[in-house]
Amino acid sequence: MKRPPNPLFPLQDLNPSQRDAVTTVDGPLLILAGAGSGKTRVITYRIAYLLQERNIPPYAIMAVTFTNKAAGEMRERVISLAGREGRMVWISTFHSACVRILRQHADRMGISRHFTIADDSDSLRIIKGILKEMNVDERVLPARRVSYLISRAKNALVEPEGMADLGEVRRDHLMEKVVLAYGHYEERLRASQALDFDDLLFFTFRLFEGHPDIRDNLEDILQFIMVDEYQDTNHAQYQIIRHLSARRRNICVVGDDDQSIYRWRGADITNILSFESDFPEAKVVSLMENYRSTGHILKAASCLISRNLGRKDKELRAVRPDGLKVSAFAAVDERDEADFISATILDLMRREGFAAGDFAVFYRINAQSRAIEDSMRRNNIPHAIVGGVRFYDRMEIRDTLAYLRLILNPADWTSFERVINAPARGIGKVTLEKIRSCAAKDAPPEKAVLEALKSVKITKKAASALSAFLETMGGLRDKVQVQALDELVVSVMDDTGYLPALQSEDTEAARNRIENLQEFLTVVHDFLEISTGVEESGSDTLSAFLDQVSLVSDIDSWEDKGSAVTLMTLHMAKGLEFPVVFLAGMEEDLLPHYRSQGEPAELEEERRLCYVGMTRSRERLFLTLARRRRIFGQYDHTHPSRFFSELPDENVELHSESAFPILGLTGRGGPSRIPSEGTIAISEFHYEPEPVEGEETLLPGTEVSHPMFGVGQVMGVEGEGGDARITVYFPKGGKKKLIAKYANLRVI
Ligand code: ATP
Ligand code: MG
Repeated sequence: MKRPPNPLFPLQDLNPSQRDAVTTVDGPLLILAGAGSGKTRVITYRIAYLLQERNIPPYAIMAVTFTNKAAGEMRERVISLAGREGRMVWISTFHSACVRILRQHADRMGISRHFTIADDSDSLRIIKGILKEMNVDERVLPARRVSYLISRAKNALVEPEGMADLGEVRRDHLMEKVVLAYGHYEERLRASQALDFDDLLFFTFRLFEGHPDIRDNLEDILQFIMVDEYQDTNHAQYQIIRHLSARRRNICVVGDDDQSIYRWRGADITNILSFESDFPEAKVVSLMENYRSTGHILKAASCLISRNLGRKDKELRAVRPDGLKVSAFAAVDERDEADFISATILDLMRREGFAAGDFAVFYRINAQSRAIEDSMRRNNIPHAIVGGVRFYDRMEIRDTLAYLRLILNPADWTSFERVINAPARGIGKVTLEKIRSCAAKDAPPEKAVLEALKSVKITKKAASALSAFLETMGGLRDKVQVQALDELVVSVMDDTGYLPALQSEDTEAARNRIENLQEFLTVVHDFLEISTGVEESGSDTLSAFLDQVSLVSDIDSWEDKGSAVTLMTLHMAKGLEFPVVFLAGMEEDLLPHYRSQGEPAELEEERRLCYVGMTRSRERLFLTLARRRRIFGQYDHTHPSRFFSELPDENVELHSESAFPILGLTGRGGPSRIPSEGTIAISEFHYEPEPVEGEETLLPGTEVSHPMFGVGQVMGVEGEGGDARITVYFPKGGKKKLIAKYANLRVI
């Protein structure tokens, strides 16, 4: 029954295509549209519309987002549109949704309901152990590579036996070893009642395949499913979605193929491109207005991305006025680049009233953040780095979590091995080996300890420590049901001797660790405050807490308080927006990253990454590079990113203080700029262009003159000395490759 639209529902907040997408709720719907066109907004309004206008109960709606943070924001927005009912809508990431499903039905899969979620470093640790047992030299086959290949296989829903058929693995001449390691790794996880991140998806898929009744029940409840950032789903996620929407087909996916940036993690861009063949009856809506960025920014980004061949062409018009041109800046080195960013931020705050929270600095790799962070610190600019060493990765936090996991899941070998000698109890590798050797297949660690105490020779000291450990763990398990979670955590810290050991250490490092443990208690308190309290028992509360901690991603721990400049990698920038954006390190080998340069498909992914970064910006966009950069303590000359030459001149200009020109860009910058205070003088590093005498190495960007071709600009130099091959761009003669000693070039 169709009811007249509720006059209160704010459909006027949407343009006609968005409105069409929001009100089309039956049948499959694909929203394929460019950056900033309101895709996420459409999902949010659509949920509110289903609740308010169609009277759909909240538990019948599921929305999947890319991060927990995005899920939280979407929930807030839905609540503000549709009221408190919005709280009950199932909005989460794929991984969180799978954990929830698996905790309910684990027994059907033959695993404990209290399975542990092994994170990436747990996985790596297990794989390292396996490779060692297999006598595989890590220099020949690094654990990281094995872990990566296993993860790719799992995301493609491939078991060890089928792995040999995966193209990527086939190319690896050590394939047999990888397949073997994958098999062992699975056994090890199962014996520990543990699932890694990829298993969360894989097991959910298997659950649906093997137990149609569970899938059908879920499908009966979930009438409407929506997926944001669909372009970055992998095969496992795709199959899960297909299962959940197989009968009702009320599936709405939104995405932008130009923003697919997780290929390296198994994201499959064809999922979005083939939606129409999966669901031939699908309605397709495109959104063509960009509400986020000013005209110059949008035009520059659109022009860049149009270079990609593997994409659907999309029209995207700026709703906002042109604004200022995108500004490009070439710094002397990474410190100079960072100081430019700081100075520009201070200037914009002072003169134009921007707040620190309005700025974001994006970079390709985490290592770039150090110079930027240093400069911000020197300039007293409040800043927050998202990523890097995470709170939950600190040793003392991991140790505490391992104890908590072991309390719930006594089969968890990884956690057991982590804490058996933390704090030091005199239980070394040898004792641990003995314990392992006593373990029957799939025996939990504490049973193995009991066996070991009975049957093998263990030093007296170690034996009494082991007995005490067993007793402590038993005591803690009793406490789970009677103590509140925060009390339990304090018990873990005290009863295990962990906190007392730190207290008696009395060093700066130990004090730091104690502070972190206190902070951890704050995390527990926060959890208790916001958790809905629906968990019935102490172990359910603990389990829910551990799930939440396991699933926080870097971006989730970032608090957007509006009072600090945000520093993050480009990969994390998806879906976000900031008034002012800096994209640092626009250099060849960094963006595009050197590993991507061999393969056209990977180069296109780098271009998309650059596009994602540019389109986060609402009003100002700065693209910066350093003409030399310190890598592993050594300075290396860099070349401006090829992406500069793909940007339209009308929308991008060289910043007036740029230390160097950038090929293809006009503007007032030039080699004459005196570097700002605090940077190393150019001359110290012979950066001033010198006359070429056949033997000098030229720097890209230098203007030179040639007897025949006239004035040009050096684009790149290969080799050194007189035999160096210099590529020069001459406006009159085009691109020429010249040999230094014969070229007769003069620096202007
Ligand atoms: P991305 O591709 O980066 O994920 P998106 O397509 O999801 O972007 P949104 O984040 O939903 O876009 O919207 C971008 C910005 O434009 C937001 O600030 C949003 O509030 C605003 N916006 C979207 N549609 C409208 C509209 N019809 N009227 C006013 N503002 C809008
Ligand atoms: Mg979005």
